[in-house]
Amino acid sequence: MKQLLSFMNRPQQATDPVCGMVVDVKNPRGGTFEHKGTTYYFCGKGCRLEFADDPEGYLSGEKKVEM
Ligand SMILES: [Zn+2]
Repeated sequence: MKQLLSFMNRPQQATDPVCGMVVDVKNPRGGTFEHKGTTYYFCGKGCRLEFADDPEGYLSGEKKVEM
């Protein structure tokens, strides 16, 4: 839930839920993905595909990608 709070506090920027990078919501390089009514933004296509494969895993913090 910490990720969601930081997302809401920064309307111009969002945190990529996969890698933790800050993404400009107006021009997300990796596009967007909607999950349960919330739009997530990604730094790259790879992160978006990873998230789409298992959104709950990333949102719960069970999955992490090593930088
Ligand atoms: Zn990313």
